Amino acid sequence: MREYLNFYLNGKWEEPTGSRTWDVINPATEAVAGRIAMGEIEDVNRAVAAARRAFPSWSRTTREERLALLGRIIEVYQTRFNDMCAAISEEMGAPLWAAEKVQAAAPLGQLNIAMEVLKNYKFEELRGSTMIQREPIGVCGLISPWNFPVILMMAKVAPAIATGCTMVLKPSEYSPFSAQILAEILDKAEVPPGVFNMVNGDGVTVGAALSSHPDIDMISFTGSTRAGVDVAVKAASTVKRVHQELGGKSPNIILDDADFEKAVAAGMQGVMFNSGQTCLAPTRMLVPQSRMAEVTNIVWRVAANFNPGKPTENTFMGPVVNERQWTRIQELIGKGIEEGATLVIGGTGKPAGLEQGYYVKPTVFANVTNDMTIAREEIFGPVLAILGYDNVEDAIRIANDTSYGLSAYVQGGNMDRVREVGGRIRAGQVTLNASALDIDLTAPFGGYKQSGNGREWGEIGFEAFLEMKALIGYEPAAASLQPSRSGND
Ligand code: NAD
Repeated sequence: MREYLNFYLNGKWEEPTGSRTWDVINPATEAVAGRIAMGEIEDVNRAVAAARRAFPSWSRTTREERLALLGRIIEVYQTRFNDMCAAISEEMGAPLWAAEKVQAAAPLGQLNIAMEVLKNYKFEELRGSTMIQREPIGVCGLISPWNFPVILMMAKVAPAIATGCTMVLKPSEYSPFSAQILAEILDKAEVPPGVFNMVNGDGVTVGAALSSHPDIDMISFTGSTRAGVDVAVKAASTVKRVHQELGGKSPNIILDDADFEKAVAAGMQGVMFNSGQTCLAPTRMLVPQSRMAEVTNIVWRVAANFNPGKPTENTFMGPVVNERQWTRIQELIGKGIEEGATLVIGGTGKPAGLEQGYYVKPTVFANVTNDMTIAREEIFGPVLAILGYDNVEDAIRIANDTSYGLSAYVQGGNMDRVREVGGRIRAGQVTLNASALDIDLTAPFGGYKQSGNGREWGEIGFEAFLEMKALIGYEPAAASLQPSRSGND
């Protein structure tokens, strides 16, 4: 039983202002696994004040100082790697192998990428007589979800540190164990006091207080579109930068010349991985209408690969995160049946032998039409919808007929056609002839439409934490060589 009852403020573990606590449930057992303190507005004020005080000195540190700190964080992270895996698995139900190979491993890659970008980044550029400078945006409020808890915190914390920003992190109340370990790592790595602060709590109190805080310059939010909209509304009156990484309902177009056996199995794997709780999951599989029966047969053949099981056992997927999520998934599976989609595998109820824990049957629907609820709403569970298309134009039309635009996938034999189709999809990331598990952590990641604003990861994600300044007349000699401001330089 873990007890994390203090917040990390100004380089120390401090007692919270209020007395509310929150029980963290292990989704595999439904037992209480730990308890955290829930923050109040005053805790946010304390954290923001610490970050504000630390900003003038931290923002003026050299590239080398920040690189040294990132290097120390990597070293300490490696010593806590096993603790991190255990915490992630316990709080959100990821199988241990997935915690080790993906959930806890990718953050090391993110830290290395932040270092690489920082090493080579041009913070200044002289254009004629004008100097364009990029500087840290200021105090950042970071709000993250539970589904890939450390990856999604690190997507913000690493570039914020690398650019010279200071920050207040509010992790999800459903995944506070890994956040606690992350804060302990940063503490051990001697992040200067006030640069990184962490307040646990819920969205309506801590999340809202961060969003509306006048002393925060930027909010970087990852979570549902519903909460992301709320953050933007609350942030509007202080005109802070709002970065949103939100939900998805990603299409996966399988063209008629694709290797169907491979493409269907990989598409299923992309949906079932992490028990379907992946924002970029290819949840709408688009196949030629005439080949729906063939696709259904492949689903039957590979279904056993995705059987859920206990996170401690060597299973492909564990439970979903909590009872609320489990109930919502059940309702949406019920909707799929009610609205007339063909249930190929799975369905409502718990899988046999897994009555304890929030386990969901891997579920696949065929003959789904794009107006059905299961084709429109993000389910965030192991549920795949297979839709038929008449021709390539029809496939592209269906793919784009969604309010989301986070990711998309195209599979096919003719690479020219695959590229052309990929280019016509309105989504922030389009993966060609590969699966949702083939991630490029250096490529910009983020959404079109209601999937968000801005991009994370790699150099573009680093730039999200920078403000831009133009110093006009910086180089007077150059100015004298340029008679007019023609804008051609
Ligand atoms: P959520 O929106 O419920 O919560 C995310 C975070 O926001 C949590 O820390 C929560 O406490 C906080 N929050 C909730 N309401 C808030 C409010 N009104 N104001 C401020 N903060 C608030 O999402 P979740 O259930 O934790 O995560 C699942 C969602 O996240 C899915 O929709 C998924 O697609 C999305 N997601 C997106 C990405 C991406 O990069 N685009 C990545 C992972 C998950």
